Amino acid sequence: MAYTITLIPGDGIGPDVTEATVRVLEATGVEFHWDLAFAGDRAQDIYGTPLPNYLFDSVRKNKLALKGPITTPVGSGFRSVNVALRKELDLYVCLRPCKSYPGAPSIYKDADIVVVRENTEDLYMGIEFRGVEAARLVRFIEDESGDRVKPDSNFSIKAISASASRRIVRYAFDYARKNGRRKVTAVHKANILKYTDGLFLSTAAEVARHYPDIEFETTIVDSMCMQLVRAPQRHDILVLPNLYGDIVSELCAGLIGGLGLAPGANIGDDIAVFEPTHGSAPKYTGQNKVNPMAMMLSGVMMLRYIGETEAADRVESAIAKVIAEGKSVTYDMKADRNDPTAVGTSQVADEVIKKMKE
Ligand code: NAD
Repeated sequence: MAYTITLIPGDGIGPDVTEATVRVLEATGVEFHWDLAFAGDRAQDIYGTPLPNYLFDSVRKNKLALKGPITTPVGSGFRSVNVALRKELDLYVCLRPCKSYPGAPSIYKDADIVVVRENTEDLYMGIEFRGVEAARLVRFIEDESGDRVKPDSNFSIKAISASASRRIVRYAFDYARKNGRRKVTAVHKANILKYTDGLFLSTAAEVARHYPDIEFETTIVDSMCMQLVRAPQRHDILVLPNLYGDIVSELCAGLIGGLGLAPGANIGDDIAVFEPTHGSAPKYTGQNKVNPMAMMLSGVMMLRYIGETEAADRVESAIAKVIAEGKSVTYDMKADRNDPTAVGTSQVADEVIKKMKE
């Protein structure tokens, strides 16, 4: 069976890591038809918009996409092209596993955390006020609550709903069951944000009651950051509202050796877009320099999602071997970032393919 996948190479380092990943995925023997689509800067140049209709048509038709990082073009009218893409396709789960591989540049040896970030609401809805509207809000707040807000304030609205909280927490528990995980921790700041994070927390506790086989824990986000840095191995699945999820997933990427090793996926009810956690790192554009492993591991997630488990295992163990050997790795995997023995993006792909064939 051949899979048709929308392929979005992206901007900056996107095309380099995408090319490397496509070669590795094709070397598994699984058959893919790639439906090429552009987004971000590249699409802006070609179509005059960073999110052309063709992109949405293709992802909706194929239900699966492999995506490189994209840059939001200045003046395109988008706050973030990525956020707009996730919103339009209702990709409400941002799934970011962070796992230690022996040989990775990290002091932690046994982290295996899965970050489940809510992807559609919270401060990322982009509801902001300034100027006359902000002044009106200042007066409204004073009239309604008696609280004094500085008259020169701007506002960003944090919206958290029971329905979005429920579906993300359910996803985290279902993921735990499907993947033999033991514990889900809901991360929040409900001691301060009683109505928004308070709602997330109470909804999480309500959902947890339906999963008695999975341990449920709650932790305040600042305490979670400290715990993660001290003992990441104590944590399993973390479920978080959008902003904390964004921040904590980069923290977790740091724990396992950096952005070059942090894969991800944005998932909705029937569509999934696989992409690394990192951005388009424009300064390395076209240099064949950065680490393609985060994108390759996103490809591994895609293989597992479509049920090609054996191919996924083969790619992941080949990547693990390359990391453990420490020879054919990019600069970010070396103790000294200027190490002259670091190889380029495409040489990493060559080595992973070689290991898959051994
Ligand atoms: P970034 O992740 O692109 O880069 C930060 C730094 O991390 C880089 O300078 C580099 O040193 C390192 N890095 C990132 N990926 C790496 C890799 N694969 N191998 C080795 N080192 C790597 O973050 P940024 O500089 O804040 O953002 C650059 C652009 O990317 C912005 O336009 C931003 O909007 C966009 N972005 C896109 C996505 C996405 O498409 N999903 C996600 C985040 C940021």
